[in-house]
Amino acid sequence: MYYMRMRLFIYGTLAVVLASAWFGFAGPVAGKDIKVTDPKKEEEWRKKLGESEFCVLRQKGTERAFTGKYWNSHEKGTYICKGCGKALFRSDSKYDSGSGWPSFFTPIDSGQLSFVTDTSMGMTRIEVNCRHCGGHLGHVFDDGPQPTGKRYCINSLSLDFVPDPK
Ligand SMILES: [Zn+2]
Repeated sequence: MYYMRMRLFIYGTLAVVLASAWFGFAGPVAGKDIKVTDPKKEEEWRKKLGESEFCVLRQKGTERAFTGKYWNSHEKGTYICKGCGKALFRSDSKYDSGSGWPSFFTPIDSGQLSFVTDTSMGMTRIEVNCRHCGGHLGHVFDDGPQPTGKRYCINSLSLDFVPDPK
């Protein structure tokens, strides 16, 4: 009897852990060190963007690989900032990195971006933000293709896409 109860308890706990893991991973995962300077403004962002986009752009979250709208998109056009609409990347600089996130070897103009050293998750990475609205876009790595050797690894949730006129 004791063992039966024990087993039920273990399976019950396991089910709860698995369920929370499943639902926890379904959405983007927020970053850890978010500095909120103006809570009222952030509340406005939350309303404007929606939960998932807010989590990435304003809380430095990361969408799960292979779940975003644009990782496998090959259409010709311009990727703009979801927060403020600035043109950030062109489809000609997009390539298949195999990472599950939209990847570009160059932005349209790096002056539109701001770069911050990010030491979260036990790694040192260069974070890429939109210079205009401060929205978090993703990270840049040195393992990209030529001519730049850079890989701008950007969350689909941080972007909108404007197709070229046909
Ligand atoms: Zn922006």
